[in-house]
Amino acid sequence: MKSHAKAVVIGGGVVGCSVLYHLAKAGWTDIMLIERSELTSGSSWHAAGGFHTLNGDPNVAKLQAYTVQLYREIEELSGQSCSLHLTGGVMMADTPERMDFLRLAHAKGRYLGMDTELITPSEAKAMFPLMDETNFVGAMWDPVEGHLDPSGTTHAYAKAARKLGAEIVLRNRVVELTQEVDGTWNVVTEQGTVKAEHVVNCGGLWAREIGRMVGVELPLLAMEHMYLLTEPMPEVEEFNKSTGREMIGVLDFKGEIYTRQERNGILLGTYEKACKPWSPLNTPWDFGHELLQPDIDRIAPSLEIGFKHFPGIEKAGIKQIINGPFTFALDGNPLVGPVQGLTNFWCACAVMAGFSQGGGVGLALSNWMVHGDPGFDVWGMDVARFGEWATLRYTNAKVRENYSRRFSIRFPNEELPAARPAQTTPLYDTMLANNAVMGDSWGLETPLWFAPKGTEPKDIVSFHRSNDFGPIGEEVRATREKVGVTEIANFAKYEVSGPGSEDFLNRLMTNRMPKTGRIVLTPMLNEFGRLIGDFTIAKAGEERFMIWSSSAAQKYHMRWFEKHLPKEGLRAPQVRIHRFDQTLVGLSIAGPKSRDLLQKLVDVDISTKAFRFMDFREMAVGGAPCMVNRITYTGDLGYEIWMAPAYQRLVYKAIKDAGEEFGLVDFGMRALLSMRLEKNFPTWFRELRPIYGPFEGAMDRFVKLEKNDFIGREAAAREQAEGPKLRRVSFIVDAADADVMGDEPIWAKVGGKDFGTVEKPHGYGAQRFDTDGKQVRGSTAAEGASAVRGIVDGDWRVVGWVTSGGYAHYIRKSMAQGYVPAALAGDESAGLFEIEILGSRRPARINVEPPFDPSGEKMRA
Ligand SMILES: Cc1cc2nc3c(=O)[nH]c(=O)nc-3n(C[C@H](O)[C@H](O)[C@H](O)COP(=O)(O)OP(=O)(O)OC[C@H]3O[C@@H](n4cnc5c(N)ncnc54)[C@H](O)[C@@H]3O)c2cc1C
Repeated sequence: MKSHAKAVVIGGGVVGCSVLYHLAKAGWTDIMLIERSELTSGSSWHAAGGFHTLNGDPNVAKLQAYTVQLYREIEELSGQSCSLHLTGGVMMADTPERMDFLRLAHAKGRYLGMDTELITPSEAKAMFPLMDETNFVGAMWDPVEGHLDPSGTTHAYAKAARKLGAEIVLRNRVVELTQEVDGTWNVVTEQGTVKAEHVVNCGGLWAREIGRMVGVELPLLAMEHMYLLTEPMPEVEEFNKSTGREMIGVLDFKGEIYTRQERNGILLGTYEKACKPWSPLNTPWDFGHELLQPDIDRIAPSLEIGFKHFPGIEKAGIKQIINGPFTFALDGNPLVGPVQGLTNFWCACAVMAGFSQGGGVGLALSNWMVHGDPGFDVWGMDVARFGEWATLRYTNAKVRENYSRRFSIRFPNEELPAARPAQTTPLYDTMLANNAVMGDSWGLETPLWFAPKGTEPKDIVSFHRSNDFGPIGEEVRATREKVGVTEIANFAKYEVSGPGSEDFLNRLMTNRMPKTGRIVLTPMLNEFGRLIGDFTIAKAGEERFMIWSSSAAQKYHMRWFEKHLPKEGLRAPQVRIHRFDQTLVGLSIAGPKSRDLLQKLVDVDISTKAFRFMDFREMAVGGAPCMVNRITYTGDLGYEIWMAPAYQRLVYKAIKDAGEEFGLVDFGMRALLSMRLEKNFPTWFRELRPIYGPFEGAMDRFVKLEKNDFIGREAAAREQAEGPKLRRVSFIVDAADADVMGDEPIWAKVGGKDFGTVEKPHGYGAQRFDTDGKQVRGSTAAEGASAVRGIVDGDWRVVGWVTSGGYAHYIRKSMAQGYVPAALAGDESAGLFEIEILGSRRPARINVEPPFDPSGEKMRA
């Protein structure tokens, strides 16, 4: 074993081997993988080996498509077969709601270049005759599904990596990790110490233990998972003989079951409701190639439904039941990327579908390590997406919830209950007493809307407009016409201070920094000129800036800030960054009467001239020391008021008391989001993401190319000079009783006019990849069954996608935001666009100017 390496990958499961392969392929050959036992000594060896492309997050779906496509490449390079069976598969809907869900998934697939197709239960039965199709109302066919040999595939990655120069050390456990002052890692193993520049945690079932070696508690948990294998079945053999094809994979949401052909029989696995964590506190180091005791009682309810839906399987004898553990993060997606607060410590763990996702994870992580950036929008699997609140117990509750709901519909207005309430503000009980329906905002309880007195504060979950529609409308109208108050503790808040703070922010942000007492809005870009942040910045003092942004991006942004801090050596720090989290909370008041209300609570003049739009001031509000921004996300005259939690009740009570004479109402996050739609304001992680440039995102006003050399400036200048290809626009949609939710296709009547590719951008920069759909189309069972649906329908074409939207209650219209080719972005003609909502194409019209207060005079009043 060598004593130095550029990177050490810990763990030889499918993920570690994929990371090793991708690092070697990217040109890093001085790399090692260290495995405690043999390759596949964690969960990889007993996996069912199924793979598919669909994922709730379209970006993760793209990386899954890449994984499937990669198998031929590693087979060729390694000479090792993965035993790939690209059979295709169907998802079966048993209710109209589930069919709506499939319609949504299918609609997303259109611009992602996926060839899914909605089919009838009888068509599904023709490809999987063991089912009783009368149990279902419809299905979705996906040609890019199948199964493979887990062990062969892991070894194929490993052999391919070795061929490219990587070293693999077996039967050698990593026992300790320490870091020198110069950043070098000491990877202490049973066979000696390796000095490494980078360490990658691919420890699978032991990823938590490896995290603990560096003081990090990773939010993941192993769950027991069972699948059964039947004896050979004559029906299967007969089908294979008569059609010349293998049976396809089937996913049955109702039964929480997946099933497919395995040799001459059937494999059937369940995600049962009565799920069970495995080794919740520590994973034993001596756990190896053993299976867990099957517990048939636990999966009996799923099997009962399964046998009813697939009577052909009930008759077969059960040959074996496999029960093995594998790891999940809170939302079921992987934890990938550099861990905030550490240098060169990387994660690729909690990969619950290693054979669908392992390739994409390896590619993204190797890009990140080698080129400094993942190259794709990997937010959906970024290790930074969970905060400190994701403790061991929180994770345990959330992972169990996620596992048991794996095949359940998550409605757009559905809040999940496990591990809540976690964080609360001092106003929590008051909000409950006010009949608030609370939601989870990055671990913090936040009021969503207020149910009328005497009614139960509870969402009726639906894809359609629901019981919150009326009350939110009331909140919006009262705010727009009088005044409203809402909690905004769930924003991210930072303070950047020190003599170097202004230069630091000027280097990171695209806008000029404000003068003392003023506020600016500014995007932040990566080196590729793509949007990685959107901030409100106030200059609070000579060397002090207050910053607000998206709550969910706190660790993501801290990681970026820390990476770009000036290297201080032993000097006093030039720049200090403090993340407040819940040590600073807030309230926003908005509406035409908000100034009159606030004036009653402060002892300074806040008239239009004395406290202008976009001013920042520290002042006492209702007797409590506060920071006040003259700005609101509703787009009205309004204020954001920030205070230490100890003062929040005092300020709220003062606002409520003083507001009575003005007709003050409480409003929640949903009303806030409805009001921002009427102002065409974007939201972070919806409209603004790293796949878009600032000009595509219509953030032109906030990009000052001439100010100084900020990160991403060159690329942004290029984008401006060449003209953005896409453009963010707002639509008014002629919707029925359902509004857009995000990711719906936008159609335009453009005849034969070509706007170039309409596929959603996924990657960017030098490492961009394109998944070539052709490679996976029309093979094996997909032939004949998959009519590749184009995205053209007569004169209509899919030209873009929705990012978010909803009902704009003040103008009483349905609205959507999304991206279309820039050439179409200014065209407000009626009849040009349609947006697909739940499978039905609704007329839509671009609205260049915001429908509420287009000149901004109310906001500036
Ligand atoms: C019953 C079952 C069915 C499944 N079915 C499917 C399926 O159909 N499709 C699918 O995609 N996925 C499936 N999975 C999940 C799949 O197995 C995992 O996604 C995958 O194995 C994760 O791989 P990994 O490399 O992250 O982790 P692991 O396979 O757990 O590998 C981690 C490796 O790290 C090594 N290691 C840990 N700590 C150290 C240390 N300190 N020093 C050195 N080495 C160390 C371990 O020995 C181990 O070999 C299934 C899992 C189970 C249990």
